[in-house]
Amino acid sequence: MEEVIKNLVALQAVDLEIRKIDEELATASDDLDSMRARVIGHKEAIAEATARIEEGEARRKELEVAVEESQGMVKDRQNKLMSVQTNREYQSLLKEIDDAKAANKERDDEVVRILEEAEYIQAKLDERKEVCAREEEELAAAEKEAATREKKLNTARRKIVKERTVAAGKLDDGRLRRYERIREKREGVAVVGVRDGVCFGCYMNVPPQMYNNLLKSEALLSCPTCNRMIYHLPEPETVEG
Ligand SMILES: [Zn+2]
Repeated sequence: MEEVIKNLVALQAVDLEIRKIDEELATASDDLDSMRARVIGHKEAIAEATARIEEGEARRKELEVAVEESQGMVKDRQNKLMSVQTNREYQSLLKEIDDAKAANKERDDEVVRILEEAEYIQAKLDERKEVCAREEEELAAAEKEAATREKKLNTARRKIVKERTVAAGKLDDGRLRRYERIREKREGVAVVGVRDGVCFGCYMNVPPQMYNNLLKSEALLSCPTCNRMIYHLPEPETVEG
């Protein structure tokens, strides 16, 4: 039985290594994904800000054309003032001139607002472009690093998978199936040590009689709480010494 337990423990160790590598691979790609998402976010914000500046610019040109036209109209009315015949006509022209000037004042104010806003947006845009460029560089470097790392991890993984085949081959089919079944149900851990009567899978106590049997290593036992296959784990001093 000791041999079986040894083989199970070895297989479990190999599987945990594989899982660790898979987690590392997944984490690396998650990190890259969030970096990519940030860069995309910057680019969207840059495009939006650029569009707003362009819209403002178009509106400003429109307003300036209107001001110019209106100024021409004012000049024309002012010339007409010299030759009006009636007071009513005179008042009407004056009103037209005043209205046009008031409208132009409003246009000028809007132009100022647009320019101020554009200046503000441009400052933010410049900042954002800088951050984006920096993060794009960081992303490129991280991608390169991740590719190298991924290659290494995959090489290591292939090697361990071979070890796994050897380790699994040492177990009979029944035990292997049981191992796989428990592993699937218990977060990848089917074989755990018990130290001082405590199961290291669920951290519950195993019954004293079971613990005594475990010390003898005569049978393959299961934790009554988490159902994982258990074996006696010596004290740390023994392990390290
Ligand atoms: Zn347990």
